Amino acid sequence: MGTLRYYSTLRNFNNILAVSNQNLGLVMTGAGHYKNYSKNKDTCCKDTFQAEGRSVENWPKGDSTMQIWRCDGPQQPQPINYDPYKIRSPEVVVPPLPPSNAKPMLECARTKGPCSVKPVADPPPCPPPPPPPFPWIYVWGLASFFGLMGLIYKLYLWNEARIKLGENVPVWRPRRMIKRPFHHKDLPPCVQYLIIGAGAAAWAAYRSIIEHDKKAKVFFISKEDCLPYDRPPMSKHMWWNPDPPDIDKLNYMQNWKQKTMYLSECHKFMDPVKFYRTETGPAVSIATGWCVQRVDADYHVAWVKTLCGEQPIYYERCLLAPGSKPKQLSMFKSAPKPVRDRVCTLRTIRDLEIAYRSVKAAKHVVIIGGGSLGCELAWHLGRMNKMEKEVDPEKQPLEIVHIYKDKGIMAGVLPEYLGEWAAEKIKNEGVTVKPKTQVYDAFQSPDGRLELTLSDGSSLVTDYAFVAVGAEPRVELAEPSELELDDVNGGFLVNTELEARTHLYVAGDAASFYSQWKDTRLRLEHYLNAQELGHVAGSNMTGYWQACNIEPHFWLRFEDELQVEVVGEVGACMPTIGIFKQCTTEEMAKKTQAVESASGERPCYKKTDEYKNRYKRGMLMYLRDETVVGFVFWNMPPIEDRSAVATEILRAKPSYKDIDLLAELLGFVDTKCVYMKEEELVEPGPCIKNWRTF
Ligand SMILES: Cc1cc2nc3c(=O)[nH]c(=O)nc-3n(C[C@H](O)[C@H](O)[C@H](O)COP(=O)(O)OP(=O)(O)OC[C@H]3O[C@@H](n4cnc5c(N)ncnc54)[C@H](O)[C@@H]3O)c2cc1C
Repeated sequence: MGTLRYYSTLRNFNNILAVSNQNLGLVMTGAGHYKNYSKNKDTCCKDTFQAEGRSVENWPKGDSTMQIWRCDGPQQPQPINYDPYKIRSPEVVVPPLPPSNAKPMLECARTKGPCSVKPVADPPPCPPPPPPPFPWIYVWGLASFFGLMGLIYKLYLWNEARIKLGENVPVWRPRRMIKRPFHHKDLPPCVQYLIIGAGAAAWAAYRSIIEHDKKAKVFFISKEDCLPYDRPPMSKHMWWNPDPPDIDKLNYMQNWKQKTMYLSECHKFMDPVKFYRTETGPAVSIATGWCVQRVDADYHVAWVKTLCGEQPIYYERCLLAPGSKPKQLSMFKSAPKPVRDRVCTLRTIRDLEIAYRSVKAAKHVVIIGGGSLGCELAWHLGRMNKMEKEVDPEKQPLEIVHIYKDKGIMAGVLPEYLGEWAAEKIKNEGVTVKPKTQVYDAFQSPDGRLELTLSDGSSLVTDYAFVAVGAEPRVELAEPSELELDDVNGGFLVNTELEARTHLYVAGDAASFYSQWKDTRLRLEHYLNAQELGHVAGSNMTGYWQACNIEPHFWLRFEDELQVEVVGEVGACMPTIGIFKQCTTEEMAKKTQAVESASGERPCYKKTDEYKNRYKRGMLMYLRDETVVGFVFWNMPPIEDRSAVATEILRAKPSYKDIDLLAELLGFVDTKCVYMKEEELVEPGPCIKNWRTF
């Protein structure tokens, strides 16, 4: 009732509320109220009682002709006959009240106690409970169980397949590259001697610096995450170790002696922070795994690449010895990853770690390249096969194929006949040699191995391939550092003192230096030369003015089989004079006869003892305009200062007419030189099966 009352009050309030004037305020007409208040000008308020079911008239009765005036705003002018008490309210029909229950209720309460007159109706019956929901949880549980079982079964099958394929061996991954010091803020902000690189040249420079400056403070910074080490054993003795190379030791056996590839003990290097705090030397420290991006020679600062940019290291003297990087064949560069994973170039310890494990797991290996690195690898892998066979005769030998594009090995240095003769040494170790062959294409074979298409039209399926086709200098630093490059030889252009800019030196494989003796530029990629250049650069960094007048010097070693040492300028296209110690004629005749009569065949010339002994020991002299400019010592007994003597001799520019004297000076004594014609040096005819002499 109250709700209805207030509702209608509100509605009527909106409809008929009239504002008489500002003094009077609100006047409410009482349609829907029990009392209707109205105000006459003369009388006071008068109550008008509401009669049930009767329409209520306004009092006093309104003049129907009179306009209802509503105040729309306080400033509106009032009409002339304005009467604020004369309010017309609409006729309202009040609905009849429901019959009162009070009396019967009171009666009932008096006689029966608290009760209601109307009997309370029984509540409606409860609806039947909903049917239980479908047990989806069981369905999901079952589905998950079977799914899990299926997955486990699938994994089991996959593992079985892996075992069948022999892939269940845990996969070895190369170790993570670790920077030392870990944070770039621990790098010293300024150093006295900064050496960029930690190879042969860098180490030789350090030795030279501490020799000349006893209080030197030397800081190395290297891209590789290991201490300075020698690279040559990587293609030689390291392959004969029964265990894979270990970065902590890098040991190998040579002549029954244990040796290490490391050039220094790690305890010799100070912590970089401690090094920086040390006021005077001698002190040496190293940062490994850090790459120098550029060198600003004007401000004497090297910028080291960090995670968030560059970190400067100021220096007094700086040496760049970034070395060289291996060349890669174009078909491997653009090959997909499965092919590239089976191909490797050998330059760093990391390469050796990966290659060693891959070769040990392989059944077939290919070596591409007939240079010194490729030949040494082929020969040492062949010998490794033999050694493993001795230890375990049951072991399946590794198949090794050596591919090179020329007729003989080391075709850039050796005359063809000698290259061919040396290739026999590799063959003798059980290696299949494929001369005059090139690799044209590479792709993955159906069984996931590496398939190589060769220039002779055949294809070769292998497990792993080494690419040893030469190296090129690392010159990435040149452009950002605004250093000049040698367009002909490659490498950084430096003067005879190995200086590229004031107080900035370059040494090692990456330096193209001017040789006064030869009046030409040289860039050499050999271990001994890198050491020599490093030595010169090191002493010049301490204030000396040493000129770099060195001769090219390197070697090729097949252990007890062949030792080749090269000094001076050599090239396959240059005229050469060869002196070789031979068997006596009677001895040779006897040996040839014995072979012939035994087999009843004319043996291949290359299989005869005559051929085998022909170039057993000797010497080659390389000529330029009748002057001897280079030597090759072929299996000569080792003499310590032979290279120094040869260098001195070459400096004197000897004539080819003095070759007997030169031979004697260089240790080739007790020899009567035999000059052979060109046709005598090549193989006399092919092998003929079932050959008979009449
Ligand atoms: C497997 C193998 C076998 C070899 N065998 C023989 C051999 O029998 N006889 C022979 O005469 N020669 C051999 N050599 C070649 C000889 O090792 C090199 O000529 C010699 O190591 C070059 O020395 P290097 O100091 O100039 O450069 P490397 O020894 O190559 O050292 C370069 C150093 O510079 C660092 N570096 C490069 N760029 C940066 C940069 N931006 N920032 C910081 N550091 C950087 C590298 O990390 C590395 O430590 C062989 C080489 C190899 C790879």
